[in-house]
Amino acid sequence: MVRRMLRSKGKRRKRVRTPGGTLKTKYIEYKTADRKCLKCKNKIKGISKKGSKSEKRPSRIKPELCPRCLKKELIEKVRGQK
Ligand SMILES: [Zn+2]
Repeated sequence: MVRRMLRSKGKRRKRVRTPGGTLKTKYIEYKTADRKCLKCKNKIKGISKKGSKSEKRPSRIKPELCPRCLKKELIEKVRGQK
């Protein structure tokens, strides 16, 4: 029986053959997808996948956009007002 914390589906399981020839289950963290910009689909840099809410997204307006797309959008918005 494995440790109690490993009995949930919180971690991915992988069967690994050891040098002695026995099969063992390895418990690996699930991979999470990189955060992408909604407009250009590029990766948003400088943020981590794990941690608190503020660490997972940039603390500025429109966190779903990359800085380049945000700059473009802001310029378009300001020019449209005049
Ligand atoms: Zn973008």
